[in-house]
Amino acid sequence: MPELPEVETVRRQLAPRLEGRMLVAYRVSDPRWTAPRSPNEVLGPLVGRRVELLDRRGKYLIAEFEDELFLLMHLRMTGNLLVDGAAEPPHLRAVLELDDATRIAYTDQRRFGTWRVLEGGPELEEFLAERLGAEPLDADFSGRSLARAFAGRKAAVKALLLDQRLVAGVGNIYADEALWAAKIHPETPGGLVSRPKLDVLAAALRAVLEAGILAQGSTLSTFRTPDGGYGSMQERFQVFDRTGEPCPRCGTPIVKLRVAQRGTHVCPRCQRRRRA
Ligand SMILES: [Zn+2]
Repeated sequence: MPELPEVETVRRQLAPRLEGRMLVAYRVSDPRWTAPRSPNEVLGPLVGRRVELLDRRGKYLIAEFEDELFLLMHLRMTGNLLVDGAAEPPHLRAVLELDDATRIAYTDQRRFGTWRVLEGGPELEEFLAERLGAEPLDADFSGRSLARAFAGRKAAVKALLLDQRLVAGVGNIYADEALWAAKIHPETPGGLVSRPKLDVLAAALRAVLEAGILAQGSTLSTFRTPDGGYGSMQERFQVFDRTGEPCPRCGTPIVKLRVAQRGTHVCPRCQRRRRA
């Protein structure tokens, strides 16, 4: 599932192709993609307008069109945006055509991805504020951001990291990697993680997300970069998907637990369970 590094990788490759270009046509083969609104309602107003900026917040890609129309794209499980690839790639759901004849294909095997259009900066800000918490790559993201988000929380720290309203953009992979790097057991109640540990965790989150971006994300199954390439972060995982392999720090075999309903990878020696 695309997390912040995958979505940012898409943004970085797509931005130079999209920014300054005008949408001239679109074709949608899966109306669910823009539900509850019809594809024409969502995309119609964008035709004839230029894209001024391709931005990202959490796992949302945000294309800002002229006149403050914002197209918000969420890839969910298996969404991919491909530039000038095959005319009919597998699981094609929609095609956008730009004024320089660039074709952007949206494919989505599981069909959970969503697109919507918001009008005006205030509507965009309200939408994002309701759904997204701290942005871990922002300059002011720190242990203090996590302390504010986790204060008094009894839920497992991993569950809190996955809650987009607290920390934006982190999913299963990068949560496991960051908790291992910070030597925090994922079941530790979030409110009980000490402030020094939260400082370490904030730095670890930033480090694993930045490493993910440098590797152009991770391709475990369906993720593709817009040029059709693969991410390589999966080759650099320390614990994720490494059950039974030695912990890179201490050699203890990595074990897989279930935390927050998600497969969770830990080193039982480096990440000690906190006693109540
Ligand atoms: Zn270890």
